[in-house]
Amino acid sequence: MLKLSGESMAGERDYGIDPESLRAIVNQVQEAVRAGAELAIVIGGGNIFRGSQVAEELGIESATADYMSMLGTVINALALQAALEEQGVPTRVQSAMEIQEVAEPYIRRRAMRHLEKGRVVIFAAGTGNPFFTTDTGSALRALEIGADALLMAKNRVDGVYDRDPRRHPDAKIVPRLNYMDLLSDDISVMDDTAATLCSGQNLPIIVFDILREGNVRRILAGEKIGSLVWRSASSDEA
Ligand code: UDP
Repeated sequence: MLKLSGESMAGERDYGIDPESLRAIVNQVQEAVRAGAELAIVIGGGNIFRGSQVAEELGIESATADYMSMLGTVINALALQAALEEQGVPTRVQSAMEIQEVAEPYIRRRAMRHLEKGRVVIFAAGTGNPFFTTDTGSALRALEIGADALLMAKNRVDGVYDRDPRRHPDAKIVPRLNYMDLLSDDISVMDDTAATLCSGQNLPIIVFDILREGNVRRILAGEKIGSLVWRSASSDEA
């Protein structure tokens, strides 16, 4: 399961979709699929709307603002689908909010069948519920479809650092963490609800830079890229 944030679609832009970033993502997905991976994607929507911001700026109640923002993830899903199919990668979009003209509804077993057939399944609209995030949607769907790992794509950040690497040039990457570390205020890999879900089911999380070429393929080939979050930081099992 690959979690793409809206930010990764926006690249350097503040809003919308950057063609170059989209191309970079498509290349990574295409490579992974060619290498034989079954790949599902949960796409965020922060590049279009972010519930909390919409609620505050427009004075719209939180639930409505969240539904508006979930629709933003559908826009991203359709853009990603179009770009992948343009490169010959078969895809299906499944949405947690019914929007049948453009996407299938989320049906777990159908999603798994698509994956078996080599189609990339793009999950849109997060969990379908306000007050959640697409991080939580990615953890949830990953567990539902029995994914081996959750790949948390970051934008030009190649893992978890001991300090903010943008402000501290001597910050060091932390190659291995446990789930409790995710709940610390200093680490922003995913929200606590998503982290708790992964922790409860021991779902390995890999935090990596999606904009570095070949990273998804390398991770799927077993290379140690970025930071791994798993049960005990001292265990050598991974
Ligand atoms: N959202 C929601 N429920 C979900 C998933 C997303 O209400 O299950 C809304 C929420 O308002 C959120 C927005 O959709 O701010 C965009 O999702 P997210 O912030 O997770 O996107 P990302 O940060 O990955 O771009």
